[in-house]
Amino acid sequence: MDLQAPLTELTGVGPRQAERLARLGLHVCGDLLFHLPLRFEDRTRITPLDRLRPGRAALFEGVVERSEVVIRRRRMLVVTLGDGQGVITLRFFHFGNAQQKRLASGTRVRAFGEPRGVPGALECVHPETEIVDPDAPPALEQRLTPVYPVTEGVSQPLLRKLVRQALLGIRQLPDLLPELEREGLPPLQQAVQDLHQPPPNAQAPALEPGIDGRSAAQTRLALEELVAHQLARLQHARAEPDEHAPALDPPGDLWEHLHAGLPFPLTGAQQRVIGEIRADLARQQPMNRLLQGDVGSGKTLVAVAAALAAVEAGYQVAFMAPTELLARQHARNLAAWLEPMGIPIAWLGGRQARGERGQLLNELASGDRPVAVGTHALFQEDVRFHRLGLAVVDEQHRFGVHQRMALREKGNGGTPHQLIMTATPIPRTLAMTLYAGLETSIIDERPPGRTPVRTALISHERRDEVIERIRVACGDGTQAYWVCPLVEDSEQLEAESAEATRERLAEALPGLRIGLAHGRMKGSERDQVMEGFRRGEIDLLVATTVIEVGVDVPNASLMVIENAERMGLSQLHQLRGRVGRGNAASACVLLYRPPLGETARERLEAMRRTDDGFEIAEVDLKLRGPGELLGTRQTGDRSFRVADWSRDQDLLPRATRIAEGLLQDPPRGGALIDRWLGDATRYGQVG
Ligand code: ADP
Ligand code: MG
Repeated sequence: MDLQAPLTELTGVGPRQAERLARLGLHVCGDLLFHLPLRFEDRTRITPLDRLRPGRAALFEGVVERSEVVIRRRRMLVVTLGDGQGVITLRFFHFGNAQQKRLASGTRVRAFGEPRGVPGALECVHPETEIVDPDAPPALEQRLTPVYPVTEGVSQPLLRKLVRQALLGIRQLPDLLPELEREGLPPLQQAVQDLHQPPPNAQAPALEPGIDGRSAAQTRLALEELVAHQLARLQHARAEPDEHAPALDPPGDLWEHLHAGLPFPLTGAQQRVIGEIRADLARQQPMNRLLQGDVGSGKTLVAVAAALAAVEAGYQVAFMAPTELLARQHARNLAAWLEPMGIPIAWLGGRQARGERGQLLNELASGDRPVAVGTHALFQEDVRFHRLGLAVVDEQHRFGVHQRMALREKGNGGTPHQLIMTATPIPRTLAMTLYAGLETSIIDERPPGRTPVRTALISHERRDEVIERIRVACGDGTQAYWVCPLVEDSEQLEAESAEATRERLAEALPGLRIGLAHGRMKGSERDQVMEGFRRGEIDLLVATTVIEVGVDVPNASLMVIENAERMGLSQLHQLRGRVGRGNAASACVLLYRPPLGETARERLEAMRRTDDGFEIAEVDLKLRGPGELLGTRQTGDRSFRVADWSRDQDLLPRATRIAEGLLQDPPRGGALIDRWLGDATRYGQVG
């Protein structure tokens, strides 16, 4: 089988399926080899019901003791399963008559899912189920089952089948970095094989959901991917000198006008950074500046100052955020600041009526709308600007380097200046390697008058006390967040678990107005909930990590984060940044499931000790010293396929060195970039 063979050559893939697979970045058979499992499930054995542990996905079996339809806020099918040693409750929110009949009393059922709750009273929301004939029980899996990133219309079983075909068919995978073997890393072919199909006796590769060890095979691929990215960046940086940007150096009246009307003074750091940016914008060389500032440090206003300079100079601004939620919030803030000054904003979202979008596109192309705010929708080909002078990209690590480059293409004559904002603090040493070619500005001061967030670590077994605390706080007019655990590969499961949590909290807290926000809701629906929360019509917001970035509700001063031990430090820090935005003393409760490993405890302790993002980033780096088999995938970070922003930072210096060497070897470098950023190169003309 050829690496470059189209996916339609595989059994089970027609043109429509191929289209869906393309959404996962899968275009040719070779791509499948680099589409690695997020984690593995162990279906090689059945766990007795009394041995199930909350938060640990398992295969289990029992006889249905009771099966009934219960109506709370919504209808659900509740099934009690017993095996003589223990019991577990299964809950289904989506079910039909057939499902109900299938799970009738007395039936033997094998199920796979993640139990929740406390030992002795476990439940499982929407497990996979299989009816078992006691005389002929189905065979168990021989190997660990990979769980791949999927998308709508592409199922796990299908992906498993396709990857198996590709692994069998492709026998010659060109090793572009054979020198890594001298460093004790496995050859590429073997690394790929091991990552998809770990040998049956492999040391638990990533069995803990969300927490991956980094095996030699993972290191091999992560390193290669980082080399490809670094190489692309280096080439990009080298290509720069002959590029021109418009010099944006207006008197600054627009900004002065806005500044004079602000209800608060700027911090010293904001003023300094605005100065740095203005100086860059005034030059004919494109600005490439990274603005780092902890959550709540006031980056948006700095970006607005830059935007107003561009607008006053007669140019347009594109303002981009990684999620619809965040982009909308920016749009709202920008509109509130700029529209009273007669500067209309164009909002470009993912879901937008064709006519409305067309109208806005026209106004951008003619220059009638000076400012566009949106998500990835702004990268799309049909978006044209009259004179784009500045691109502001929020939370950059979620966008690949290539997407930024795609924007450059929209300059129409010149390269737009770029301001990249991130609230993910990056230790200085790393920032230098990672952002070769970017200038850095740091807001190292927070607006005054904020009380630090008190953080507590509380075992899941004391959940009731935490619920009581919410009752009291909300009774006093405070608003609170309840953040549900991460289910990495399945937005669907995550949403269902969030719904189940909402049900339980609603039972425990009958007086409160409880809202729900998760990634499976329609954007408009979720916005409505967020809007209700912002207006104070919702006391408690149960949410998945969709609220991670940027949401600003000052009256919310209590946050509970479930399964905090599963999340990355920077993600926890981001989440916690949602509280402590107003004047009230705020608190954050990190609920964890004991027992905590030593490193996990140290990480959570760091969260308790400090809320300085840079310090947290340093701790994160230190705790993941070489050889440490620990790391947490940052959800939403889809800029890498294998490498992990947080887990693999220690590989960066090495990757950069190798990339520098490859600058001298264009054919090999090109092949490497094509392998890892192939999609991107087609999209944004990298290199
Ligand atoms: P982030 O850096 O996390 O993006 P934002 O720009 O969202 O932070 O700012 C957080 C909040 O602080 C906003 O409500 C903003 O209006 C407010 N803010 C920004 N600058 C100041 C300041 N100098 N003093 C007080 N509040 C400020
Ligand atoms: Mg922000």
